[in-house]
Amino acid sequence: MKSTFPLVIDGYWRDGADGSGEDVLNPATGDSLGQVAHASRADLDEALAAATRGLREWGAVSPWERGRILKAAADRLRADAGAIARTLTLEQGKPLGEAKVEVIRSAEFVEWAGEQGRRVAGRTFLGRDVGNRIEIETHPVGVVAAFTPWNFPMALAAKKFAGALGAGCSIICKPSEETPGSALALVKALLDSGVPKAAVAVVFGVPHEVSSYLISAPQVSKVTFTGSIPVGKMLAAAAGHAMKPITVELGGHAPTIVCGDVDPEKAADVLAQRKFANARQICLSPTRFFVEDAIGERFTARFVEHAKAWRVGDGLDPRTQMGPLANARRVEAMARLVADAVDHGATVASGGARLGNRGFFFAPTVMTDVPDETEILHSEPFGPLAPILPFKDEEAMLKKANGLEYGLSAYVFTGDETRRNRLKDALQFGTVGLNDVPSHPPEAPLGGWKESGYGTEGGIEILTPYQKTKFVSAR
Ligand code: NAD
Repeated sequence: MKSTFPLVIDGYWRDGADGSGEDVLNPATGDSLGQVAHASRADLDEALAAATRGLREWGAVSPWERGRILKAAADRLRADAGAIARTLTLEQGKPLGEAKVEVIRSAEFVEWAGEQGRRVAGRTFLGRDVGNRIEIETHPVGVVAAFTPWNFPMALAAKKFAGALGAGCSIICKPSEETPGSALALVKALLDSGVPKAAVAVVFGVPHEVSSYLISAPQVSKVTFTGSIPVGKMLAAAAGHAMKPITVELGGHAPTIVCGDVDPEKAADVLAQRKFANARQICLSPTRFFVEDAIGERFTARFVEHAKAWRVGDGLDPRTQMGPLANARRVEAMARLVADAVDHGATVASGGARLGNRGFFFAPTVMTDVPDETEILHSEPFGPLAPILPFKDEEAMLKKANGLEYGLSAYVFTGDETRRNRLKDALQFGTVGLNDVPSHPPEAPLGGWKESGYGTEGGIEILTPYQKTKFVSAR
């Protein structure tokens, strides 16, 4: 086998039928980690045939046993977390400690969905007429086609495998070609724990070719995607055309409101940490910092101190606080956004440029005096850029906070409970952190409002996107 990162179809780990592929780069060095295999149409046809069989085989396993298998897979992931985290760091760049947290979180999703799968129930009630009995049955929706990105290459794939398998579906996943190794490790844990080999497949290839083929394939009943808004819209249109349900978890541009009553240094300590985690390639990350005038200077000074002192380096180095960006596109995007802000009159208070000329490093960057019309205040930066925006008037600030097409997450920092609740109620976002910037735990349903997507992942409803109901009326 020539691929380091093969396809997994019907339990076979192999190259694509036509032998094509592409290099996977270590973002810390720019060096190749090996080839990822590309699937041809013949390979996708095989994956579809296997998934159709896998749906029957996995559906024939009792929910109780499915829960046991998924728990075993979660335990395997936890046991192998050190080795898998290394794979994740090498392909994605995040520091080893963050990578390990991601592996553990992936295990938690798999375990949670397996537990929920044991509780799937229908409903029975008496109809309007005597002798009429109504049953609502719950069924797995069918074969799932999933598309996952490179920022949390294991956890975002794990959410989809967990929900689909917990509900009794089979799944074909196309992870990002840039970060194939951790999704393959996830599938290995599932197969080694007893998930039927036909029920899970991993394919890579040319993204739009693979997604258009799978979405329109008659064997596929459900589509799920995490990634950018433009791609999400394309896939939602294709799914709509094929009349298939789709869950889309897309970008965010989180307003982070820091009110004048909080300790500015403490708030800056927490927010710098959350901002630079995963080099801010997190859809939920704080990105637009609205800081009330009274504490603006102190908050900014402390935030800049952090940005300057943040240790940027190879994620494998234990001293590293922030790794490289995941790919060269992000470095170019950061440079473009900074240049645009400067052209509009913004001040770069720290960072603002690429670091070194090997790998894809960019300095933690803080910008002040950022005019409303700069691009960074309108498009998600998906990188370590922090514009700090002073505010006096709450209503005007809220208008800006709610004024974009994004509706994924928002944050409020204040000790004033009345104000906190007022702001929470006014924010048009699917996730709101109050004196907190949470990551996504399996027990919470997470989903975007507005153009940040539709449908949710996680929570006690983790299986719902992968289920369909049947209304049975009997006399
Ligand atoms: P992109 O829009 O090209 O790709 C985003 C993801 O979608 C990638 O994983 C890619 O492999 C996949 N993809 C692209 N075209 C596809 C297609 N036709 N069918 C199926 N999958 C496809 O952008 P990018 O340069 O990789 O990332 C940049 C932007 O993506 C960021 O600015 C951010 O807004 C967004 N993003 C969001 C998330 C998230 O968690 N919501 C994750 C990654 C990227």
